[in-house]
Amino acid sequence: MLIKTTSQFPYALIIHGGAGGRSWVPPKGTVPGADERPQLICEGLIAAYQAGEAVLAAGGSALDAVCAAVCSLEDTPVFNAGRGAGLTHAGEVEHDAAVMTGAGQGGAVAVSRHVRHPVLYARKVMEESPSVLLADPPDSYAENWGLELVPNEWFITDYTRAYLSAIQQGNAEKPKHGTVGAVALDASGQLAAATSTGGFGGKPVARVGDTPILGAGTWAENGVVAVSGTGHGEAFIQGAVAHDIAARIKYLGTPLPEAVETTMSVEIGGRDSLGGIIALGPDGNGAIVWNSDLCLCAWRDGDEIKTMWPEDPAL
Ligand code: ASP
Repeated sequence: MLIKTTSQFPYALIIHGGAGGRSWVPPKGTVPGADERPQLICEGLIAAYQAGEAVLAAGGSALDAVCAAVCSLEDTPVFNAGRGAGLTHAGEVEHDAAVMTGAGQGGAVAVSRHVRHPVLYARKVMEESPSVLLADPPDSYAENWGLELVPNEWFITDYTRAYLSAIQQGNAEKPKHGTVGAVALDASGQLAAATSTGGFGGKPVARVGDTPILGAGTWAENGVVAVSGTGHGEAFIQGAVAHDIAARIKYLGTPLPEAVETTMSVEIGGRDSLGGIIALGPDGNGAIVWNSDLCLCAWRDGDEIKTMWPEDPAL
């Protein structure tokens, strides 16, 4: 499925809150607040979109915009990132996140356990360290960079606990995907992408997905495209999905929507996997493509912020 986006402004933004099936629904009365989840997802998408767009409208950078949108999603417990992220098989949260600027700088963190905003951790790796990717970093790094640390339990919610136990008891279908991300173009023509996730619910301890692998779940390249993915991370890594899209546009001259659709079909569908991709080009035109039931996302269409969410009457 494909949605094409355009922008009436000199800047543009698309965000996602994960692709996959509709939310897992816990047995009635077992998880407080479960019924309100779809509505909270819709509100969370709009709030995050507005947070990112406010940066761009004020003349801020694409990098600041994607970080603002992703921080907002990380703080909204109905998404699989930050607080509310899916749990490992052992019942802990292990976050992965990445940022990339169109100028070619990138930073990422894998298996982060205590930083409240993993996307800001990834940004610090990019800006403050000689590295591109840090895995299972000691808390002292985050402390030295002035990042907010919280206990691992702070990220865990009644819903994520109930979901893990349903998976372990075989009462939930195969793990649903989540993840959040944003792609932005700023008024000075710079692109940026950011992605953040808890990985899939019930994942093995220490498993790293595509999100922090530049070229797999996250990519930005000025003049070409900014990409953020969600879905079966192993397929995104094996297909080098985000970079494959950039390469189609850059080397073959494929129009952006077609490049995203082809990569989705060849590299994700071709691996019998599911996912969603948001991509934005240097002209402010973008695409949202998914081969799962739906891809939670928000984009601007004229005066309206449009969203796709689980109980969207339009679906
Ligand atoms: N792509 C993420 C991962 O494999 C999961 C997701 O998007 O839900 O870690």
